[in-house]
Amino acid sequence: MRIRFLIVVIAVLALLTPPPAAAQSTIELVVGDIDAFWAQQFANAGLSYASPGVRSIDGPMSTSCGPIDPYVSPGAYCAADLTVYFSTAWGPNDPSAEILWWTVLSHEWGHHIQWQADTGVTTVLEAEQQADCFAGAYMGHAADAGLVSPAAVTQAMQLTQAAGDVWFFLPHDAPAHGTKSERALAFMTGMNGDVTDCGFGG
Ligand SMILES: [Zn+2]
Repeated sequence: MRIRFLIVVIAVLALLTPPPAAAQSTIELVVGDIDAFWAQQFANAGLSYASPGVRSIDGPMSTSCGPIDPYVSPGAYCAADLTVYFSTAWGPNDPSAEILWWTVLSHEWGHHIQWQADTGVTTVLEAEQQADCFAGAYMGHAADAGLVSPAAVTQAMQLTQAAGDVWFFLPHDAPAHGTKSERALAFMTGMNGDVTDCGFGG
């Protein structure tokens, strides 16, 4: 396990050089792995899966769901164009940006899942907490696969928790992500279990 982890770390480090390409490589790694993770979950549940569009934003722009400002919103999911948007406005040399991408992409991907399958949520708050739970389930998987360290998963949980009610942005919804403790609990439910514990495929 430890040797496999080291090999993966070395492989990931190789992917991450040289520095200017690091950000893009990390994002490609995260996007590819989240997509593969969900394709597997859908296959396990006997459901068909379609990948979302993924678009980086480095300045304010308009989407099918309305305007988005990457300096305000680290990510968003727009159901009207089935696209995950994520901010690269922090710049490729900001080390905190990397875990932010894992956190944001895994959460926003969760909203795409809610448009791909009936996951049992009926309110915006339930959808947000389920997206946090899906993000936790994915991050647990990424740690098991050696793609991120357990410390990074804890950091993702703390970022989610710190976000409280204001952090993520859905163009078509008022912010309603739950309290800090609710968000942390939702994330940990997924992290310590799997997507079925979040209500997927049940
Ligand atoms: Zn959300």
